[in-house]
Parts: sequence; structure tokens; C-alpha cells
Amino acid sequence: MNAPQKPEYLNAPQKPEHLNAPHTNAAWHARRLAATPRGVGVMGDFFIDHAKNAEFWDIEGRRFIDFAGGIAVLNTGHVHPKIQAAIAKQLERFTHSCYQVVPYTEYVALAERINELVPIDGPVKTAFFSTGAEAIENAMKIARSATGRGGVIAFGGAFHGRSMFAVAMTGKVQPYKAGFGPFPPEIYHVPFPCHCASLDETKRAMEQLFKCDIEPSRVAAIVFEPVQGEGGFNPIQPAAVKWLRELCDQHGILLIADEVQTGFARTGKMFAMEHYGVSPDLMTLAKSLAGGTTLSAVCGKAAIMDAPAPGGLGGTYAGNPLAIAASHAVLDVMVEERLPERAQKLGDALVARLSVVQAKSKHISDVRRLGAMVACEFVDTTGAPDADTTKKVQAAALKRGLLLLTCGVYGNVIRFLFPLTIEDAVFAEGLDVIDAAMAEVLA
Ligand code: PMP
Repeated sequence: MNAPQKPEYLNAPQKPEHLNAPHTNAAWHARRLAATPRGVGVMGDFFIDHAKNAEFWDIEGRRFIDFAGGIAVLNTGHVHPKIQAAIAKQLERFTHSCYQVVPYTEYVALAERINELVPIDGPVKTAFFSTGAEAIENAMKIARSATGRGGVIAFGGAFHGRSMFAVAMTGKVQPYKAGFGPFPPEIYHVPFPCHCASLDETKRAMEQLFKCDIEPSRVAAIVFEPVQGEGGFNPIQPAAVKWLRELCDQHGILLIADEVQTGFARTGKMFAMEHYGVSPDLMTLAKSLAGGTTLSAVCGKAAIMDAPAPGGLGGTYAGNPLAIAASHAVLDVMVEERLPERAQKLGDALVARLSVVQAKSKHISDVRRLGAMVACEFVDTTGAPDADTTKKVQAAALKRGLLLLTCGVYGNVIRFLFPLTIEDAVFAEGLDVIDAAMAEVLA
């Protein structure tokens, strides 16, 4: 009898060549390019080793100050000791049961806490998911189920995620939508009423939409970010929030606030919607909800949340126990360390520094903010959006060890997302780097 043929993979060398490669940023960068698709775009060419609050160190031992916060996830900082302890404690008990198969009390208790916290009128219910995009997808499912309608209105410049429905609702083609269509039908965009479009413009566009594309009685929801995040840190005009609420009430449309980026103390209040005195019907939450573990939520008026039938909502990992444990600790830290107040204070200090630079430079057209959600916008000498200068400021800061993020439909905005727990001395150091980077580029 012939000996069975040895499968090819068993002939591979025991220790692949790459395991002998040096543990340097350059070597790993090359391996990243070879092993992972370019569509997962990566900003830096260095790799994190460990982190603490608002600082992290790369695999070559270089220290960075983190004004990016993993894109708004780390309002409570890297590895907050209380959050770390909560995760460690949960790790000893169980890591997964699938909530829909064997429930755990902490999920229910977290829903109760969120229901108490969110600025939504009347009895509220909350369901947990894993990512921001998943929260948006589920908010739309709930809205359609509750209204029996299909249409969705979102805003130009909006970002709602990368899954198919969420990206269709996103109002920015490059790089999010290009090449990925066709998208689900019945999703419409109107101009976002912020510093770049007047409320009248939005009203006219909405009127046009209702005339040309869809009758209001077929619209399930209007979805907006109180401050557009990826779109450029654009705070909505307060009058627009009131108008949207009235419009929705008039036509039986649900108003959904996407607070994935604005939530959890960033804007100087626990939720940005608290600034407007208007109750949305549904809210989506994620990012800083769970301090870097994977958790998102949809919360809303109980009758609306209860529209989908049992089994219509959920997911294998939705409301993972480690993330739920982390989130309980996040909420404790938010209160104990008074992070909404601290956000306002840090935002004030940053704006004061940026305003000094703005007064001296024609390249900074706007410094705007809600709480610590601060944006600095760059233009060229003709007043046109200047992505190039923006990137140069970002690079000049990075060279000095400060991580900054850009945003904006034209890529000409620097946004600031430092942990709200940042130590005063580290924050001051970060501000000095910003001054130096601006001085180098704007000279
Ligand atoms: N909504 C908003 C407002 C966001 O800022 C983001 C992420 N930047 C999302 C949704 C999507 O979240 P995720 O990347 O977790 O899917």
C-alpha cells in the first residue's frame, strides 16, 4: 500500500523566514504592505507597543502623545486602571455565552444605566451591538420596523460607518463609497446645516426632496450627527435641531441622533443632544462607550425599540461581557472624574491657544468647537480648502511625537480627540508641540 502523500503545508519550513526578520517599524511596515490589503488604510508607519492614559510607545521605544484617542474611543484614556480591573475581573468569570442564548445581568444593568442617562423623553430601552456601523444598521432596522416605511434622509458630509447600509448613508464618496455601489435604495442626502450651509439651504433641499424624490409619508427616519465627526467637526446649528424635530413630528418621521463620535463627555456634556433641549427618538452610541473594547448601542423610546420581533435584533458577539464590564467602569469614571466638565475646560484651553495662531495666520480660516470637540480648518492664500498644509501640520506634530488626526470633506481640518483624562502636564506638552508644528509649517 502506498504511504499517504504528505500535504504540501507540512513541507513548509518550520520557522518561516519572516520570523527571523527584525522587530522594527520598517520591517513590520513592509510585512504589513505584503500581508494586508491597502483598503485598510493606515496613517502611520510605526506600531504601538504599550500605552498609558494619553501616551503610547512604539515597538522601538519612541514615546508619543495621543491626541487621536483611537478616533474618539479613548475619552477615558489608554488602560485606565479601573477599566482594566473591571475587564480583568470579568475575564476570570466568563468571556462569552452569547447574550441571546444565556443572558447575563450586567447587560441588563448597563441598559438600565444608559436608559437613565440619555436625553430621550419617556421610557427608554437599549440594545447592544459591537461597532458603530452595526448600531446604525440596527437603528435603521428598528426605524423601518416601527414606521413601516423605507426612506432615510441623511446629510452631506455625514459619516455613519463602512458596512453597506451605513456607508450608503455616509455623505462622502472618497474614499468610503467609491467603487462599492450600487447602494440600498431610498437613501437621500441634503446639505448639513452648520457653518457651511445655511438652515434655509437645508430647508429648500428638503422641500425639493419631498417634491422630486420621496413623499414625507414614506420616510422612516432622518439621521444626523450633532457634530459631524469625519465630515469636519461641524456642529449643527441649534435652530436646525429644533426644526428637524418639528419636521419629523409633522410627518411621523423618526429623528435619529448618531452620537457614536460625540457621545460620552466629549462635547462638554455626557451627550451632545443635551446642548439642544430636543429629544431624538433613537440614538446610536459606540466608541468611548466602552474604553477601547468593542461595544455599541441603540437606545430609544421603548415603543419604537420594541417594534422588531424577538430574534430580529442581536448578534453572536453583540453586548460582549468583557465590553459590558468595561462600559460599567467607563460610566463610573465619567462621573468620578467629572469628564464632561473637564472636556469643557480642556476645550477652552485648546481654543485659546489655537486662536493666538489663527490671529497671526491667514491659513487658519476657522477654529470651531463644541466642548472639547475642537476643529482647526486650513485654507490656502485664495481661501480654498488646503489639505496639503493640513497634512504638513500633522506631519510636523508627529515628528515631534504628537499624534493628530485630520478630517473634513476636503481633508483640510485637524481635529483633536485627546483622552479627557489626560494629565495637565502632558496636555500642556501637546499644546506646545502644536504651536511648534504650526510655526514650522505656517511660517
Ligand atoms: N457614526 C459616526 C458618527 C462615526 O464617527 C463612526 C466612526 N467614525 C461610525 C458611525 C462608525 O463606527 P464604527 O467604525 O465603529 O463602525
